[in-house]
Amino acid sequence: MGAVVPEQGRLGAVVPGRAVPEAAGEAGSCSPGAAAGADGAARLAAGQPGAAAGPGAARPRALQPGACAEGRGAGPPAFGFLFDVDGVLVRGSQPVPAARRAFQRLADSGGRLRVPVVFLTNAGNCLRSAKARELSQALGLQVSPEQVILSHSPLQLFSQFHERYMLVAGQGPMEENAYNLGFKHVVTIEALRKAYPLLDMVDLSRRPKQLFPNSSQKNLAGVILFGEPVRWETSLQLITDVLLSNGNPGAELQEVPYPHLPILACNMDLLWMAEAKMPRFGHGTFLLCLESIYKKVTGRELKYEALIGKPSPVTYHYAQYLIQQQAEKQGWKAPIQRLYAVGDNPMSDIYGANLYNNYLKSARHSQAQAGLKRSPQAASAQAEVSLGLRNDCNNSVESCESILVCTGVYRHGENRETERRTEAQTGETVFHGHRDFCCDPSLLEASHIVQDVDDAVQLAFKKENWS
Ligand SMILES: [Mg+2]
Repeated sequence: MGAVVPEQGRLGAVVPGRAVPEAAGEAGSCSPGAAAGADGAARLAAGQPGAAAGPGAARPRALQPGACAEGRGAGPPAFGFLFDVDGVLVRGSQPVPAARRAFQRLADSGGRLRVPVVFLTNAGNCLRSAKARELSQALGLQVSPEQVILSHSPLQLFSQFHERYMLVAGQGPMEENAYNLGFKHVVTIEALRKAYPLLDMVDLSRRPKQLFPNSSQKNLAGVILFGEPVRWETSLQLITDVLLSNGNPGAELQEVPYPHLPILACNMDLLWMAEAKMPRFGHGTFLLCLESIYKKVTGRELKYEALIGKPSPVTYHYAQYLIQQQAEKQGWKAPIQRLYAVGDNPMSDIYGANLYNNYLKSARHSQAQAGLKRSPQAASAQAEVSLGLRNDCNNSVESCESILVCTGVYRHGENRETERRTEAQTGETVFHGHRDFCCDPSLLEASHIVQDVDDAVQLAFKKENWS
């Protein structure tokens, strides 16, 4: 099993293959069609922007496919935007006032976007189409599901797992999300618990009153961790059982299988901000528990087949792919060369954008060194495969600039104070990132800090000489 791990300059063992429509079957959604396959790169066929808003929703102006206006006097855009959602465009259910101004700037008088845009969030316990409807309402123009990237969306590219029996952990419409992403055989923690009633023993009230033989189950071939579950002790126990039994928790193995079954994990955020004064546990905290338990029990490291969601480069590559696809679909001829990633969280948004920027630069450097400009052949085979670049000979993107806004998690100068005090007292560096990502303070430094998303758009327009 491959290493996972996108440390700086090192990318996960992800092998994108045929992509499938995530939003299949969702009413009013616009599915990216079937794709790629033979040529190896993940090529999602063009989706149709302009999904209908939910019933009762005020009708936002529709984006017209193929009719997007170009920047005034600037030709087709050679750049695109990656917008974080919470803390940038909305706070809870309320739109950030600057967001509407920013999108008025980004759209023409008919509500048509003049620049490719994707929305990049680590949320995962909802459907892409539902998030698109929320954003349409908040921004006053129509957002299509294909513009929305949830923490699990890049799992669409992991077709090598789509036919296998996969255990899924998390909450919300997990099974529907898994099926929409292309997974055919999904087993929830609750279904596994029912099949093996002797496994879940922490809660005395849930212990079985009488014993039944285990029902026969297909062996599981992998685990998908979508997000934090509700009963952590149950999920931690059953996931560990599946790993230690090589997918058959009814069996008792003499030796611990290692490498263990592949694990695909979405959303590594340790903490998140809700209404409470102090941060809440995120899925990263759950992963930390699972890693610690596995290490303590087996003496070995838990390994991930892939870690996705921000700040993973796999997620940024997927965003780039969707942006290029939008530009292509609109008939904008100029290749996309620069990305602007706008976020409020240094650890996910800024770190992720900077890490991807480093990846783009090192890939280009390797190509230049080999005298093969814009050819992926000189990049490491691992990175090519990881990001689906092996057959993507026209990767035109040169940079991904990070822009930090002050309308969410980050406030000028405040955020590092607690960490600095702790570091001074303990001599230990406080790093809230995932175990498999390197602690490099330079990755947390934004290319630009501005007040809000409208300022971020204006900054990018100025850099692009765009009006
Ligand atoms: Mg945010």
